[in-house]
Amino acid sequence: MFENLSAKFSSAFSSLRAKGRLKAGDISEIADQIKAALIESDVALDVAEKFATRITDRSLEKLEEVNRGTNPSQAIFAIVNEELTSILGGNSRRIRMAKKPPTVIMLTGLQGAGKTSLAGKLALHLKKDGNTPLLIASDLQRPNAVTQLQTVGEAIKVPVFAPEPGNGVGDPVAVAKAGLKFAQEKFHNIVIVDTAGRLGVDQELMREAIRIRDAVTPDEILFIVDAMVGQDAVRTAQAFQEGVGFDGVVLTKLDGDARGGAALSILEKTGKPILFSSTGEKVEDFDIFYPDRMASRILGMGDIQTLAEQAKRAMDSTTTSRLEEKFAKGEDFTLTDFLSQLQAMKNMGSMSKMLAMLPGAGAIKKQIENFDDNELVRTQAIVESMTPAERNDPKILNGSRRARIAKGSGRQVSEVNNLIDRFSAAQKMMKQMRTGKGMPGMPGMPAMSGMGGAGMGLPAPMQPKVAPKKKSKSGNPAKRAAEEA
Ligand code: GDP
Repeated sequence: MFENLSAKFSSAFSSLRAKGRLKAGDISEIADQIKAALIESDVALDVAEKFATRITDRSLEKLEEVNRGTNPSQAIFAIVNEELTSILGGNSRRIRMAKKPPTVIMLTGLQGAGKTSLAGKLALHLKKDGNTPLLIASDLQRPNAVTQLQTVGEAIKVPVFAPEPGNGVGDPVAVAKAGLKFAQEKFHNIVIVDTAGRLGVDQELMREAIRIRDAVTPDEILFIVDAMVGQDAVRTAQAFQEGVGFDGVVLTKLDGDARGGAALSILEKTGKPILFSSTGEKVEDFDIFYPDRMASRILGMGDIQTLAEQAKRAMDSTTTSRLEEKFAKGEDFTLTDFLSQLQAMKNMGSMSKMLAMLPGAGAIKKQIENFDDNELVRTQAIVESMTPAERNDPKILNGSRRARIAKGSGRQVSEVNNLIDRFSAAQKMMKQMRTGKGMPGMPGMPAMSGMGGAGMGLPAPMQPKVAPKKKSKSGNPAKRAAEEA
């Protein structure tokens, strides 16, 4: 998602940078390029026009000041970054909790938008924050919606209130009401009501949603929308807003090839912020939507914050503190530590998704797409075939031990050698970090530096591009901002 837009922004800025001092004509030229890029990404025409006008006005107003600075194109880049953040929602807000629990969250949207999946994702997210959610199965229309919700509830260990079988049987309003009562009795502090969608907006759908709304008076009505449908998403959102009304938006299927139009138009068109996004079918594929981080990704600056948070979440706190302690004491990072990190990496989900959050990820798009997540599994098998003594002191790994490990893990000796070489390089990098010569360590994730390759078993060609060590500043403002950050 957003790749095309990112590429267009990047090329517009590199031509701006080539100009040095900027004239009014240069500003209108870049504003035109930005507008065209937005329209091509399926952003509503009037939204794209307004955006371009704001860039032009703000840049022209500051033109003298911009040209007095050492880097005029960088100053324009900063304006675009601010405007993108603002169009995506500015300061994002969180779920509003009711003063008197339970907080009622109602999900609405078309069939197939991802409501039922989202109910599970949201419940898991809220549960991780210490809440005790209850899922209510009020989608009694879509075939198997009730069993789907029960399955997801079981998987995440969140109870599901589902007295009716669904598939056209049962009264969704009565279920919602009874579910709320049940939650009060059992002291659930949040309820999430899954409701039925239709293939298109129709009166019957709206009437049912309104009746459920009036029966449970939600604290938050979330409109769930598939980002892949582009401008249609905005039209559907407007119809739902006029019908049942909603307080916030959740964009699903951001992992697909959506061009970004929905994300960039929805706030402007409905006045409602995007609160969450979903990036896959698994329950973990769910994120809080941060406008500034999304703007940063669109402009090719990556999203290191989210990456660091995911890393922290994936590492259990014991592993984290043990590693931090070792790091502080100056002890060696061993293959045992590496193994626990590999396990944590697997908990974090798809490697390609994580790599896409790195600054400059656009430039290595092909490698990211080709990244084989099974690489982690293969690496883990090799490390698991070692004895604890070997993991703690890889120096004892002579030829015959390596041959045994290769056999045990079903890999080639060359792969074992390769892993040990890369591990040694990562260990060396860790030492440099500790002595202040390398990248500052990220809490709980000392081997993040290895994401460039050494620690994580990434294909070698990715290393220099992901974590360039060059001193010179990049000619591309997006990359330069990322380097400076
Ligand atoms: P509902 O009819 O609104 O309840 O939709 P579902 O929750 O059943 O989702 C419809 C389909 O979209 C299912 O196959 C989901 O697995 C899939 N889905 C939901 N969210 C995402 C997402 O973020 N990314 C991808 N790729 N698929 C999703």
